[in-house]
Amino acid sequence: MTHDEQLDHYVLPNYGRYDLWPVRGEGARVWDRDGKEYLDCASGVSVCPIGHCHPAVVSTITEQAKTLIHVSNWYCIDKQAELAEILTEQVVRIPGKNFFSNSGAEANEGLLKLARRYAVQVRGIAKPRIVTFTGSFHGRTMGAMFATAQQKIWGDFGFTPDELGYLHRPFNDIAALKQTFADHDDIAAILVEPIQGESGVNAVTPEFLRAVQQLCREHKALLLLDEVQCSFGRAGEMCGWRSIIPGDEIQPDGISWAKAIGSGYPLGAFWARDVAMPGTDAKLCDLLGPGSHGTTYGGSPLACAVGLATLHTIFKEDLCAQAKELGSHIAGSVRDWQHPLIKEVRQHGLFIGFQLDHEAIEAKTSGKVASIFLARKLLDAGLMTVPAGPHVIRWLPPLTLTVAEAVEALTIQKAVLDALL
Ligand code: PLP
Repeated sequence: MTHDEQLDHYVLPNYGRYDLWPVRGEGARVWDRDGKEYLDCASGVSVCPIGHCHPAVVSTITEQAKTLIHVSNWYCIDKQAELAEILTEQVVRIPGKNFFSNSGAEANEGLLKLARRYAVQVRGIAKPRIVTFTGSFHGRTMGAMFATAQQKIWGDFGFTPDELGYLHRPFNDIAALKQTFADHDDIAAILVEPIQGESGVNAVTPEFLRAVQQLCREHKALLLLDEVQCSFGRAGEMCGWRSIIPGDEIQPDGISWAKAIGSGYPLGAFWARDVAMPGTDAKLCDLLGPGSHGTTYGGSPLACAVGLATLHTIFKEDLCAQAKELGSHIAGSVRDWQHPLIKEVRQHGLFIGFQLDHEAIEAKTSGKVASIFLARKLLDAGLMTVPAGPHVIRWLPPLTLTVAEAVEALTIQKAVLDALL
C-alpha cells in the first residue's frame, strides 16, 4: 500500500486534510515529500515559536533522550521543578504553582477541575457552573469541548453544555455577564481566552477583561485564562493577557498553556494562584492534593527539558519584542495595500487575522468557504496559513521569522489575492 492508501484505510477521517505530506522543516521552512518548499506562517497552529528543528530543541531532545526520557510523577523530576519556577517567576510573575499535562485540552481540564473542586469544597455549591464565551475554543475532551461555546464542536455528543455545568455567554458583553451573575449564585469560574484564535483572532476588550475580573472577585468566582494559543510571545508578551492590559492589573486565578511551550513536543501546563480561598487559610494552588488529579506522561523529563529550551530561547533572543515589531510591520503593509478582498487586519504581535471580504470571494468561487478556499490557494503558492472560522485567514509564523521571510510571505499572499480580482 502507498502512504495515501494507508492513511485512507487506517486513520480516522476526523480531519479535513490537505493533500500535503511535509517531511522536513527548518526555521520557517517546510518541505514536502516531493521536495516542494513552503514558507510556514502557521507553525503547526501556533506550536513552533522558535521555528522547526531549532538547534536548541534538537540538542536538548538528543541529550535528554540519552539521559532519561520518562519516570512516573510519583518520583521527583528536576526539569519539572525548573520549568515550574520559570513559569511562575518569569512568565506569570505572580506567586502560584504549576501542573504539567500533555496538551491544551488537558491543561483546561485541570483548570475546570480546580474550579469545580473549589466551588464544591470551599463554597459548598453542589453543582457548580462555569461561564465561557461565544467563539471560544478550549479543546476536544469532554470538559473542554462543552466549555467551548460553539455548537459545531459540542453538538451530537449526547449532552448539552447546561447539563454538564457550562453557561455560554456573548463575548465582550459586560451587561450579559452581569445579568448571568444576577441570575445564578452557583458560578465557580469564568474561563476566557484573551485572544480567541479559532473563531477569527478576536481579542477581549480591556473593559470586558476588567469587568470579568471585578465580577469574579465580587462573586468569589475564579478568573481562569486560556492562554493555550496566545502566550509565550505569540501576542508580543509572554502572557497574552498582558498584550491587552499591560502590567499587573489583571491577576488571574488560573492559566492554561500548551502549544508553544513544547516547540512541537507534547507539553501543556496549568498554573494556579497562591491565594487564600474565601473563609479559609488554605490556598487555591494547594487545593488539588494527592489523588485529586494526575497524568502518566505530563511533565516528563524530556517534555520539560524541551519546555526549558524553548522558554530560554524566547527570553534570550527577546522574541516578544521581535514579534511585536514584525507583527506591526506585517499588519501595516497589508493595511497599506487597501486590498478589496481584505476588510480588516487584526494584529497582536505575530497573532494576525485578515478578515476577508467573504461575499466577494464566495461570488467568485461559486460559494466556497472563503478562508478555506484562500488557505488552499496560498498553500498551492507555497505559503502555509490557517483559516480561523469561515471568513478569516490567520498567520501564526514562528517568532523567529525574518523580515525577508515576512516580505516573501506578503508577496505570495498579495499575488494570490490579486489573482482573485
Ligand atoms: N485552547 C485554545 C485557545 C486552543 O487554541 C486550543 C487548540 O487549538 C486548545 C485549547 C486545545 O489544545 P490541544 O489541541 O493541545 O488540546
